[in-house]
Amino acid sequence: MTYAIGLTGGIGSGKTTIANLFATHGITIIDTDAIAHAITAPGGAAMPAIRREFGDTFVAPDGSLDRARMREAVFGDNLAKTRLEAITHPLIRTESERAAAEAEGPYLIFVVPLLVESGTWRQRVQRVLVVDCAEETQIARVMSRNHFTREQVQAIMVRQATRAQRLSAADDVIDNDVQHAPLAPQVDRLHAAYLKLAAQAQGN
Ligand code: ATP
Repeated sequence: MTYAIGLTGGIGSGKTTIANLFATHGITIIDTDAIAHAITAPGGAAMPAIRREFGDTFVAPDGSLDRARMREAVFGDNLAKTRLEAITHPLIRTESERAAAEAEGPYLIFVVPLLVESGTWRQRVQRVLVVDCAEETQIARVMSRNHFTREQVQAIMVRQATRAQRLSAADDVIDNDVQHAPLAPQVDRLHAAYLKLAAQAQGN
């Protein structure tokens, strides 16, 4: 099995930005958020079960998930959230493994926003790479990217692992407060380290 890195970080920390830099080294990126989106798009693999479990009112006219409605339904309702995840998580996992089996190259990267919160993903990867930045940086980025209020961003952040919890689960950390350290050299250094680790793992 290909050596696997799990890339994680809080909302707006820079996971996609950093995954794109690894991709410039030819590394396969498997983005679980993109998979989650694809399986709830029109004709997506999760849609029949969502329709069955939640009803037609959660399906938009084009056959995709009515995201706004579902967000409202699961917000603060753990049972509904668990029911949704019971449908989506196994499909995301299956699709991720299918993509991993096809991946070429010395190692691959799974981008998993809630990796630290998920025991199964932590077990699946050989190393956990955390994208770290100040909470204020996350808030400013998401406010500007999504036109959210500070309160909306904070409401999402309190539902995620804390910065300290993420850092304590990390094997490697990228500092994405750009005033501290530029990104490309950090990615280059980790890429070199991962090439070595993947080669060692191959030899065992
Ligand atoms: P999400 O969890 O919300 O999907 P993410 O962790 O994938 O976010 P990105 O989408 O990479 O984060 O970055 C969030 C926003 O911050 C984007 O608009 C991105 O362009 C910007 N951003 C990320 N890193 C930097 C940086 N080093 N310098 C400037 N802008 C950045």
